[in-house]
Parts: sequence; C-alpha cells; structure tokens
Amino acid sequence: MIAETVRHHVAEPETPEAALIPAQASPVRPRLMFVAAGANPDAPEATSLLPGPTPVKPRSCFIRPASRLAGGVLLLLLLFSTRGRADPSDAPSEARGIWVHLTHFNADPVQGKAEVEAFVDRYAEANFNLVLPWVLSEYMAALTDPSYLDSQPTAKWDALGALVHSARQHHLQVHFWYSFTYYKSPRSPEFNPEHGGNPAWAARRVLPAKTPGQPPVVSAPMTDVCPMHPEARAWQIKLLEAMLERYPGISIHIEEPGFGYPGSCVCDLCQSLFRKIYGTDLVESIHTPQAEDFRCLGTTELIRELRAKLASRTPRPCLSVNGGPLWRSDRQLGRDWKRWADLGWLDYYAAQNYTDDPDRFTQLTRGVLQDLQPCPVFVGIGVKWSGGATPLPTVLQEIEQARKLGASGVVLFSATALTAEDLARLKAGPFRQPSLYPEARR
Ligand SMILES: [Zn+2]
Repeated sequence: MIAETVRHHVAEPETPEAALIPAQASPVRPRLMFVAAGANPDAPEATSLLPGPTPVKPRSCFIRPASRLAGGVLLLLLLFSTRGRADPSDAPSEARGIWVHLTHFNADPVQGKAEVEAFVDRYAEANFNLVLPWVLSEYMAALTDPSYLDSQPTAKWDALGALVHSARQHHLQVHFWYSFTYYKSPRSPEFNPEHGGNPAWAARRVLPAKTPGQPPVVSAPMTDVCPMHPEARAWQIKLLEAMLERYPGISIHIEEPGFGYPGSCVCDLCQSLFRKIYGTDLVESIHTPQAEDFRCLGTTELIRELRAKLASRTPRPCLSVNGGPLWRSDRQLGRDWKRWADLGWLDYYAAQNYTDDPDRFTQLTRGVLQDLQPCPVFVGIGVKWSGGATPLPTVLQEIEQARKLGASGVVLFSATALTAEDLARLKAGPFRQPSLYPEARR
C-alpha cells in the first residue's frame, strides 16, 4: 500500500495541536499582552484572519483598552522580559511540534502531573512551540465512565487537562491528535450503546482469498468506524466538540483520516450504496478506481462537517490532518487530504516523511510541498517509528532541509524517542533561536 514512510501501530499511532497561534504565540509577549489589556490569560487564544505564515506584531486590540499608564507599564514589562533573550521576531516563523502519547506519563496522579510539567518545560526550553497529544475516544469515555480507566489510567487525573494547562503557561500550541476512523477496538465507545454508539458502524474489510479461485473473505475486526453512516459522523463530531468545550483553546489534528487497512469498507450500508451508484458489487470491485472514489465519500463528508462546526466557533480552532507523503497512495485508504487542502479546508497538512535517507527525505518533501501548495505543510520527521529510526545528526539535517525547501514547520515523532541530550542538541542546532508559531491560514 503506502510507501515505506507510512506506519501502522494499532494502540498508538505514529503521527502526530495548533490553533495556529497568531502572533501572540511568542514565548514572551502574549501573556504580557493579555495581562496588560486586562484580559483573561486562560481564555482561548484569539485567531487571526490573516493568511500565510507571516509573523506579525501583537494585535493592537489587546493594547487598546490599556490606559497610557498601562501602556508605559507594558513597555517596561516588555523590555524587562526580553532582556538577555533572543528576540523571537528575528527567528523564522515555523511550527516545531512533538507528537506524544499519554502513556508517556505515569498513571499515578502525583508522579504523572510532575512528569507532565517537566515534559512541557523541557520542550519549551528547547524552543518547541507545538504539542500534539494522542487522544483516544476511550480516554474521553474514561473521564466519566470508570470502566474505561483500565485502558486509560491517566484519565483518572486528566493528563490531557494538565498538559493543556501547562502548555498554555509556556505558550505552546496544543493540537489534539485524534483518529475518527482508525485505532478502535470492540470496546470503543463508538460501538457501545451505553455511550450512544452502535456496533453496526464498524467497518468491514475484504481480505484476499486464502486459496486461488476461492471467494474473498469479509472480516469485521472492529478496528475502524465507517464514516459513511451519518450517525457515526455525528457521534464523532459530538465527541470532538466535547473536547473543545472541556479544553478551551485547543485545535484538532486528525490522524490518517481514512481506513487503517486496504479493502475497507464493505459494511451493509456501503454495499447497498455502492450498488445503487455503480450498479455492481462492492466486494468484487473493492480494488477499482470506483471503490477508491467511493471510500473517500464518508471521510470527506466528516472533514467537511467538522470544518463547518469549527468555523462556527469563536475563535475558530484550526483543523489539520496527517498522513503519508504520497496522496495517490493515501487516497486508496479514503485519505483524500490533497483534495481537502485544495478546497482550503485544512490549516496545515503534516506529512510523515519518515526516512533516514537524506536524499529520499528531500525527494518526499519537495513532492508534498509541490502537491499541496499553497496549503502549509509541516514535515513529520521520524526519530523512531515502527519502520525504523533516524540518527539524530540526520534529524538535525532534515529539519534544516525542510526549512530550506519551504516547509511551514516540522513535527518530530515522537517524545518517547527523544532524550534530554537530543533536546539539548536540537536547541544548540536548528532550534537555536525561538520561533513564532505560524500565522493561521484562513
Ligand atoms: Zn461502510
């Protein structure tokens, strides 16, 4: 299926939050702006309508309410706070993200919270500006249903809440990294009627015949939700809205927005619809261009509905997705992100250009930047993933190369693979200067 850069890992994906913070994302100035203006520093970040990744000065609306005296105090605060530090406005505006799983943190609340604090502190100190924590639907269920705590123990003390709070204090963007289709299990709340779910939403998959001449086998592994069901899409949108309500200021980053495996989906609804549209059997046609187009319908509709929901919120959370570097391959799994980017639905695309070969990295990065322009691309760099690992000197080289080729940022996979020494080398190298998070594309 997809190129060697694509990774699959059922419990914990290998990908990749951003309310693409506007200019206020500066490591120093934003809080000063809020405090000086008398605004609530814990309120969701404002977003800008300016296109493109250009760093801009703090918006005057935060300063306007302040009196002349307050303005003077503000100036003194600014001067004081930036003494001895590099001015982030001198640095390129680029995203510097880290994908992290909640299993990274201890289940014990005291130790876990201390680890979250230390984690955010380390990454802020290394001049990162974006954190993408992996969130399962089971985690959200575990916040209210103790029967899910065995698989999501950090939900007991809400590790996500602690992470969002700490990240905000350090002016890091948080984009929840979530899959609306894949990384499910028979226990997932999507399939649990007590949580409003329905087992009939499970995607079914065509497996190749075990022996030649035999008919293909249809399996129901309950690893994926079929987004063709309107009720299943509504369930997912409601869950994402619950995340936005509980954790104000976050944005949504969708993991590989399609099916986890080829041969999906042939549930009863999909079979019935396919026959009505194309006049043929879906199981027999599963590897045809018609089936490829068909499986992009449900995923596209979910992204369109999610985009509309996000657009109705103020400020509007950003929407992004990730996947492989090759859109033609990803489309076979219903991941039609190039089209969504072309339609202007995505604030950025994160391409998993995981390879330890610098030439291959350059080729993949050039390709995806060309395919997606003008949609911003954050290049995913695999420090360690299921298919391999990249030595740190090559990681540093790939970051510089992504920047040189015009990527709007990088995201490293993942926190588990990076040591304190690695972070120090990043800060001494390509992350030497602080950087503003890119302006949101609107
Ligand atoms: Zn289906």
